[in-house]
Amino acid sequence: MSSLSSVKIPSQIIKCHNFINGDFVVGSGEKIQVISPFNGKVIGEFSSSTKSEVDSAIAQAASAQALWAEVPMKERTKVMFNFRTILIRDLEEIAHLKSSESGKNFEEGRAGLLKGIEVLEYAIALQNMDLGGKVEVSRGVSCEYRREPVGVVANITPFNFPAMVPMWTIPIALTLGNAYIWKPSEKTPLTSMKIAIALKEAGLPDGLFQVLQGTKETVEAIIDHPAVKAIGFVGSTKIAKAVFDRGSLLGKRVLALGGAKNHIVLLPDANPDLAGVGISDSFTGCAGQRCMAASVLLAVGDVETHIQKIIARASSLKLGSDMGAIITKAQVNFLHAAIAKAEAAGAKILLDGRKMKAEGIAEYAEGNWIGPTILDNVQPGSEAASVELFGPIISIIRCKDISEAMKIENSVRYGNACSVFTSNGALAEKVIKMASTGMVGVNVGVPVPREPFSFGGINASKFGHGDITGQHSLDFWSNIKKVTVKWEKQNDNNWMS
Ligand code: NAD
Repeated sequence: MSSLSSVKIPSQIIKCHNFINGDFVVGSGEKIQVISPFNGKVIGEFSSSTKSEVDSAIAQAASAQALWAEVPMKERTKVMFNFRTILIRDLEEIAHLKSSESGKNFEEGRAGLLKGIEVLEYAIALQNMDLGGKVEVSRGVSCEYRREPVGVVANITPFNFPAMVPMWTIPIALTLGNAYIWKPSEKTPLTSMKIAIALKEAGLPDGLFQVLQGTKETVEAIIDHPAVKAIGFVGSTKIAKAVFDRGSLLGKRVLALGGAKNHIVLLPDANPDLAGVGISDSFTGCAGQRCMAASVLLAVGDVETHIQKIIARASSLKLGSDMGAIITKAQVNFLHAAIAKAEAAGAKILLDGRKMKAEGIAEYAEGNWIGPTILDNVQPGSEAASVELFGPIISIIRCKDISEAMKIENSVRYGNACSVFTSNGALAEKVIKMASTGMVGVNVGVPVPREPFSFGGINASKFGHGDITGQHSLDFWSNIKKVTVKWEKQNDNNWMS
């Protein structure tokens, strides 16, 4: 395929800091290095935040939030307008940095930030949407909804989308009047500095956006702090469940998005070109490191033409340009082992990416590479069929009909996304109804809803209620106050007198 713009990897080590009260501050906990998946070199370093640093940052956020809550939404939104202008201005620079630390190719880095900006545009639109409602419920008595901030909210994010996933929540939470505590992934903390500085330049008052670098201990200190009222999390299912349980035990609202094992149902009547590109791009995009990636192909009946198109598309990809790198060497080893286990269990390897390396760029020689891999005749219930691998691997399971395919899809514990490729609307509708996922696609390999539609899975892909973006996120990032008002005694008596 085409050779895309290469990622500009920092040549010097970036000192990454916390961002507290509008200034970069060095943490005093454990020192951690940031390694670029493209070349295996250290490109950044930071010190984790200690509990006392977390406590002090949150106390300052609480003071700033009390004033921000008094600012009308239209004024808060002006900051978000400026924020958007700055992100568009700095788009390429941020895209290079986030790609350098996460392994995405440049186009993917850029696209992730643009998707985050769509959420920002939704947040900007909130000022013009009906966020309340008032009705005269009895003579002289009215009831009213008022949307109010929650207070200090926190969000903990994964490595694979250093800007997009945080941007799912930052604009909405701030526009609704909250202060925001962000704990980025320790593998990709550098992008957070760009977002923090952009918000400061946009005019956000100090203290409302605090970035705390760190790992487990930092996350636990954030969850436990009494001033933190709502906790968002995106990451693996194991940690999502742990964060959900810890926050819930403290009586806090928690929305924790977890991992995924997404299925694509391929029917013989699907357009082979649409399916070839859509399915290949779904499992190879971001080198398979996204929660919406296709992971299992449920091949119903004779779909050989389509599978050949998928193989042709996937085998044309060049590592280092069309496809990015894997986050760590340990993850590359895990993927190698998973392929070997599947083969030993009887799977046939139609495309083997284990020996592939980045092409044409000497600097990438020490990077973490694995090419697109297609496993055929995978057995339902095996590791390749049911465990999230998080790499450019797709497992084909042969099925005789849609019922068998959907039984397999329903048996997996995750519930993020499912897609069907077909030219028959009735069959598509059958899959939509039977899928045990929060998001479904028809002839779309990566069915990520675009604003104003919400993003979120079900089952082991999400703990908590509501979605993380769009309309169904508003009640998570705000409180609804119900106000009943009467100004004068009416002649008629009723139960509200
Ligand atoms: P991860 O669970 O390892 O880490 C996520 C965050 O949790 C990081 O900030 C990390 O520092 C923190 N963390 C790690 N261990 C912790 C612990 N014991 N206690 C508290 N916090 C802890 O996930 P990852 O490897 O960074 O990201 C990949 C995972 O994220 C995949 O499973 C992927 O499917 C998932 N993901 C899900 C979505 C979604 O929308 N459902 C989106 C993106 C990524």
